[in-house]
Amino acid sequence: MLAKAPRGTRDILPEEVEKWSTLEAFFRNLCKNYNYREIRTPIFEHTELFSRSVGEDTDIVGKEMYTFFDKGKRSMTLRPEGTASTVRAFLEHKLYAQAQPTKLFYFGPMFRYDRPQAGRYRQFHQLGAEVFGSVSPEIDTEVIALAMDFFHSVGLNQLSLEINSVGCPQCRPIYREEIQKTLDKYRGDLCPDCQGRFENNPLRILDCKVENCQEITETVPDILDHLCSFCVQHFEDVVYFLKLLDISYHINPKLVRGLDYYTKTAFEIVDTGLGSQNSLGGGGRYDGLVETCGGSPTPGVGFAIGVERVLLSLEQQNIQTKLLGVPRIFVAALGTKASARGLQLMTELRRLGIAAEKDYQDRSLKAQMKQADRVGASIVLILGEEELEKGKIVIRDMVKGDQQEVDLEGVTDFLRSSL
Ligand code: AMP
Repeated sequence: MLAKAPRGTRDILPEEVEKWSTLEAFFRNLCKNYNYREIRTPIFEHTELFSRSVGEDTDIVGKEMYTFFDKGKRSMTLRPEGTASTVRAFLEHKLYAQAQPTKLFYFGPMFRYDRPQAGRYRQFHQLGAEVFGSVSPEIDTEVIALAMDFFHSVGLNQLSLEINSVGCPQCRPIYREEIQKTLDKYRGDLCPDCQGRFENNPLRILDCKVENCQEITETVPDILDHLCSFCVQHFEDVVYFLKLLDISYHINPKLVRGLDYYTKTAFEIVDTGLGSQNSLGGGGRYDGLVETCGGSPTPGVGFAIGVERVLLSLEQQNIQTKLLGVPRIFVAALGTKASARGLQLMTELRRLGIAAEKDYQDRSLKAQMKQADRVGASIVLILGEEELEKGKIVIRDMVKGDQQEVDLEGVTDFLRSSL
């Protein structure tokens, strides 16, 4: 007992931590390029924040929260997700008073008392982004692009982006009634969870994973045929911008997501090879959430990506995460003079933001090539005394296996334009 971590939690050992920090670094860099700024909120919040925002009738609030009374008899909850806390901070610190939109990102542990299995933990970690203050469908598309760019940057190119609209307070209630009307005759055949959802949260029946419920929901008409004209226009615009940015997507009218606060756009990124826990990330628009949390009406849109699932997916697809973020360039220099010039060159590359490494042990060329391979470099710059004298350097592409000689003076420009 004492020598075992609580069920649903895990230690992340040093070798794995490197993969984690690489993923974090990729995400941070990307967010910086997209002009999102990091926010760090507390691990626990007043329980009410989650019950009000995520929704009383959701699985998260109903069954999965780690709720406790502190010594002051206040009800506290370990955060099950990041959006509610970000909204609370947005209001508490009046971030709305700054020029909008406010674009934020976060990284950290989340807690849900769920049944642990492969890819599902009680303490897991999310990378997330939120944008407040813009109704533009361009922003929906931007957050989707950010999530997809992240997946591509770590080497996950085979994922499916599923997208839907869950409507707004004008059109959703009509659709809810439509679901109830259609499913009424099958009510007794639904799983016990869905029987409960029938009154409180009928939309959630649509994404129930129980096979029988899935068959029954085939009879439910598409939400996309029941949206009001504003929601239709918004959805069409998001899809148009996705096309414009060359982002492939799959419209899934059954996608509703597990949190109540979504309006209009809902999306999920799925790895179809992952089995039952195949969702790597998801998000959507939540135009009513800030108001629900006590602010004035402020639109919002965001997503969260599960780090454990990303690592699982990388592992399963045999993508060498150890290659992520490792030196791309290895400088193999031979002899004292070339080594000094190599040191200069490597530093120059590092200052340009290109990860680089060299040998410091005066190894043979063969040994240095092995070392380059070991650290995962995709390019080796070979600089011997002879090349140095000619003012040349050899660029060897470790992936293609070919090499070429270029001018030593122009090599950084050459690499910058070709990388
Ligand atoms: P959600 O906050 O429910 O929208 O989930 C966003 C992402 O967090 C999911 O796509 C998963 O990748 C991840 N996630 C959610 N719940 C868990 C869990 N219990 N264990 C591991 N990852 C999770």
